Amino acid sequence: MLGNAELVWKGYAIHDTKDWKNFKVIDFEPKQFDDYDIDIKIEYCGVCGSDVHTITGGWGETLLPVIPGHEIVGHVARVGPKVTTFKVGDRAGVGAQVCSCLKCEPCNTDNENYCPKPVHTYNSKYPNGDIAQGGYSTAIRAHERFVIPLPESLPLEQAAPLLCAGLTVYSPLVRNGTGPGKKVGIVSVGGLGHYAVQFARALGADKVVVFSHSPNKKDDAKELGATDFVVTGEDGFSEPHKGTLDLIICAADVSHGINLMELMSTLNVHGRFIMVALPDEPLPPIYAMQLSTNGALLGGSHIGSKKEAIEMLELVVKKGVKSYVEVLPMKEASKAVQNVKNNKVRYRHVLKVDI
Ligand SMILES: [Zn+2]
Ligand SMILES: [Zn+2]
Repeated sequence: MLGNAELVWKGYAIHDTKDWKNFKVIDFEPKQFDDYDIDIKIEYCGVCGSDVHTITGGWGETLLPVIPGHEIVGHVARVGPKVTTFKVGDRAGVGAQVCSCLKCEPCNTDNENYCPKPVHTYNSKYPNGDIAQGGYSTAIRAHERFVIPLPESLPLEQAAPLLCAGLTVYSPLVRNGTGPGKKVGIVSVGGLGHYAVQFARALGADKVVVFSHSPNKKDDAKELGATDFVVTGEDGFSEPHKGTLDLIICAADVSHGINLMELMSTLNVHGRFIMVALPDEPLPPIYAMQLSTNGALLGGSHIGSKKEAIEMLELVVKKGVKSYVEVLPMKEASKAVQNVKNNKVRYRHVLKVDI
C-alpha cells in the first residue's frame, strides 16, 4: 500500500515562457495538506492545448516555474481525515481544476467549474498563497470535490485526456441539448473535436457535421461517427447546411481563418454556437445583423462539473468512446507540446511518468 512517505514531489517545469521547449526536472512543495485533500501518485498525464498557451505566455502572465498538465490519472496515495469517497489505492483522476470557494451559487449547483474563485490545476494560487503545480509530475494534491473516480474497465492512459479534453466538449453538448432528433456541428477534429464527434453520436444526435479546414481528416471523421464532412476552405462551404443545425461546438484553437459568420449561418432559428477552444487572439469581428438573421446565439463554456465528469465516464464505458492517444515517456514533454502547437498529434499525447 502506498503511504505519504513514499511520495516524491518532482515535476517537469518551464522556467521562462520564451524558452518553453526546455523542461527541467524540479522538486516542488505541494499545497498544505488539509482535511479534504487527496494525494494521487500520478501514472499518466495528457497534454492539453492549455499547457501550450500557458508555457508560451499566450494567455498572459505565467507563474514561473510552472509544471503544466491537467489530465491527470493514477492511484490515491493519501487521504485527509474528512475524505469519505476515496481510499488509498483507488484509481483517481484530476482535470483542470483542483479547488474552488465551495460556497457560492455555482459551487452549490454543480457549476463549480464556473466558481468566480477557482484554483486551477497549475499556474494558479490557493488563497493562502500556496502554488498549484500540474501533472507533468510524480504527484498531485487536490480537494476531494475535484478528484474524479475512474471506472475499473477504463485503461488509465485512455482516461487521462477525458478529464479535460473530453469534459470540455461533453459539458456543452449536454447543456445545450444534444440528443435524439438533434443536428450538431463540430468545428475541428483534434484533441477536443475527436471526443465531441463521438459524444454527439453517443448522446443520440441524428446528424453530426464535421467542419474541418483540412480534407485529410475525412476518414477519421467518418470513423468517429460523423454523418457529414465539410471542408471549410472551400467557397460556399456552408450552403448545403444553411439553417439546419441546432448546435455547433467550435474546438478550433485559432481565431484568424475561422469563418465565424459563415459557420453560424448553418444554425437553425436560435441555434447555438459554443466556443470551447480558447485561442490567444480575439474572435473575428461579427456583425450583429449576422446574428439576427437566424436569431443565433454565440456563447462559451468552461470545462465541466464533477457530476458531468462522472456521467461522461459512464457514457464512455457504455458506448465505447475511444481516446485516440499517442503515449510518450514524460521526459519527451518538449516534443509533445511542440506537436500539440503544430497540430501534429492524432489526437492526444499522454505522458507516462518516468521520474
Ligand atoms: Zn464557488
Ligand atoms: Zn485542458
